[in-house]
Amino acid sequence: MGVDKKILVIPGDGIGQEVTAWGQKVLMTIAENYKHNFSFDEGIMGHVAIEATGNPLPDETLEKARKSDAILFGAIGHAKYDNDPTLKVRPEQGLLKIRKELGLYANLRPIKLFDELLEASSIKPEILSGADILFFRELTGDVYFGEKKRTEDRNTASDLMIYHRYEVERIARKAYEAARSRRKKLCSVDKANVLEASRLWREVVQEVAKEYPDVETEHMFIDNAAMQLIKDPKRFDVVLTGNLFGDILTDEASQIAGSMGMLASASVGDSTGFYEPIHGSAHDIAGKGIANPLASILSAALMLDISFGLKTESLRVIKAVETTLKQGYRTMDIANKHTENHLVMGTEAMGAKVLENLS
Ligand code: NAD
Repeated sequence: MGVDKKILVIPGDGIGQEVTAWGQKVLMTIAENYKHNFSFDEGIMGHVAIEATGNPLPDETLEKARKSDAILFGAIGHAKYDNDPTLKVRPEQGLLKIRKELGLYANLRPIKLFDELLEASSIKPEILSGADILFFRELTGDVYFGEKKRTEDRNTASDLMIYHRYEVERIARKAYEAARSRRKKLCSVDKANVLEASRLWREVVQEVAKEYPDVETEHMFIDNAAMQLIKDPKRFDVVLTGNLFGDILTDEASQIAGSMGMLASASVGDSTGFYEPIHGSAHDIAGKGIANPLASILSAALMLDISFGLKTESLRVIKAVETTLKQGYRTMDIANKHTENHLVMGTEAMGAKVLENLS
């Protein structure tokens, strides 16, 4: 029996427009193959929305977002704003607002290197091979949202690191649930030797851990975690951490997967899930037709699994990506300069190969 789902597509700016089309085509193919009924609507956000309406997140897009079961997003950003930090209306305001309005408090970022891309990473293949990590980064608390101050003489500044018990509890539960369906290991990362907010974090995780006796819990300080991630990424299964530490650790971990063009992420709360590649709008390659569409396609796979519970379909998409890479097809960012048997192609051709392998 197929499922009925409403999906809002927000391509955004730059390569967001080029790659999201392929994430959507993959979802359409899955719906057809597995007899699901996915209906699509489209919304604008970011620079394109500012140009059209003056608002980076028009009310109409937000309304559509609230009514959808899941959102497939591309990226926002334009060189104009990067070069002029004084501009008051900015594309990223749209992204921050939609995350807040939809209550997306947990950012999930799976880090898994396809064997075919072992050589594309800057880390030694023998260290990387077999690494498979799922990050849970808290998204609505911490220094990003705590009180910000600057003294009158402008010489002293502070950002308050703040966490409430309920914020730690709800994301800890999500992370433990995920660990149960994986290798049953959870590493909580904090700085409890120094920070009071981290001591609360650790205390709450220790309490939630009692509800999941089947999951092995480890607590690690952020400095050690940053080192272990590069030294021995295989030791991690689920990593649970706060907003600031998660921001830094997940970007570090993106190197494990070889390229930004390969990594997908999900932001979830208690309702609509939001799925996007981790990369930005990449002005340097926008409009050239060479962006890697695989991160958007893998974002669609995450949506199928997390928001719709369609695990088989999600694995089918991941398998199609794997097969495409096995066949030697590469976009420029993941082409290995040391081997000649790779067929380097653009966004359209790469997306079409994945669709072919899906059918
Ligand atoms: P970026 O992720 O856009 O690009 C970084 C580098 O990776 C570039 O050299 C780019 O060509 C390459 N790259 C990224 N995605 C790729 C893909 N799919 N295929 C091939 N190569 C790819 O980051 P940036 O250059 O720092 O930022 C560009 C713009 O994107 C800025 O305006 C920034 O604010 C915005 N941004 C948006 C998001 C988002 O929407 N979530 C995230 C990060 C940056």
